[in-house]
Amino acid sequence: MARGLALGLVVAVVLGALHAGVASAPAQDRPAPAAPAGFPLATDARLAGDAGQTRFVVDLSRSVEMRAFTLADPYRVIIDLPQVTFQLPPKAGERTRGLVKAFRYGLVMPGGSRIVIDTTGPVRVERAFVLDPADGLPARLVLDLASVDRATFLRAAAIDNRLPRESQRRSERDAPPNGDPRPIIVVDPGHGGIDNGTRAPTGEEEKTLVLAFALMLRDKLEQTGKYRVVMTRTDDRFVPLNDRVRLARQREAQLFISIHCDALARRDGGAEGATVYTLSEHASDAEAARLAEAENKADVISGVDLSAEPDDIADILIDLAQRETKNYSAQFARTLVGELKSTARLHKHPLKAAGFRVLTAPDVPSVLVELGYVSNKADMKQLTSDAWRSKATESIAQAVNAFFHPRLAGPSEATGAN
Ligand SMILES: [Zn+2]
Repeated sequence: MARGLALGLVVAVVLGALHAGVASAPAQDRPAPAAPAGFPLATDARLAGDAGQTRFVVDLSRSVEMRAFTLADPYRVIIDLPQVTFQLPPKAGERTRGLVKAFRYGLVMPGGSRIVIDTTGPVRVERAFVLDPADGLPARLVLDLASVDRATFLRAAAIDNRLPRESQRRSERDAPPNGDPRPIIVVDPGHGGIDNGTRAPTGEEEKTLVLAFALMLRDKLEQTGKYRVVMTRTDDRFVPLNDRVRLARQREAQLFISIHCDALARRDGGAEGATVYTLSEHASDAEAARLAEAENKADVISGVDLSAEPDDIADILIDLAQRETKNYSAQFARTLVGELKSTARLHKHPLKAAGFRVLTAPDVPSVLVELGYVSNKADMKQLTSDAWRSKATESIAQAVNAFFHPRLAGPSEATGAN
């Protein structure tokens, strides 16, 4: 841990996204581009019933195993399935009836898909089953929900949420190559899978924009030969926020770069340019607070149950007393803003702080860079331009060099402990 403190630095890059709208907006995940043929297809979804009892039906090309459970605050029903290719009609997830406010769906891990239903209040899963195809009808997933009071709901949720998470445990990451003294940098493209992040008025999704940027950043950093880069994701999959933090700590990363983009409606003042965030208990302004709250919802959107996570953000913020980490984060953030000045449009206040969950590794200095606003035309032009991505990732790589180089050049206790 002492070693981590000496050199750790977590950088989260936020590209800018209308996160506030995301939680309630249904996800229309296209089938994952890499999805091989052969996964069951979900082709339609229907709702029936009323505010007392509601039935949710999904047509499937063949029968699958399913598991349904509930989560509170906000009230949700989660349906876990083997990997399914969703080809539901556009806006299917916006259908509202009875107890169902909206639903979203997508891949949460290789081999695993999920449907998250937002309900109007506390519900009980009365029945959940899959009918085999028969009489010319497709296989059908059927979920019956009934309205219950909050106390009943919480009792049921406590019981059935104990089972599933073990199976979702992230697979072991590769061990670091023995004897390689180069610092590990974790590059973290935000969102993914069922969690689209924000969406541009022109339809581009944050998860896709930030992945393209992050992959290019990885290449730029690896080309220097000075670093080992670990990605939190390299494709369109969901990764819980705490797993991203955990990965950085497990790998004893010395820099963590999370990449996002933001959005702000014109009626909320509009905004443009890149911003670099560090972790703080107290947000530096209202916009930083709004953004952190929105980003921290990623797990809620995908249905991850935060109540099972012991490392509450408040506890971790106390660890900020580990000032060394905090100082390195701030130092890198300043360097990064300095480098980005020449290639990116910067926000009028480009250095900010707020309580981002993904920045909470106590021993890995962390920065979150918001690359721009998908709500802003000029920012969007950059975010979708390969030429701009190339310049901006180059700037970040230079900031990383400036941060590490003096230390690597000198006699450092950090490199010795690797
Ligand atoms: Zn984001």
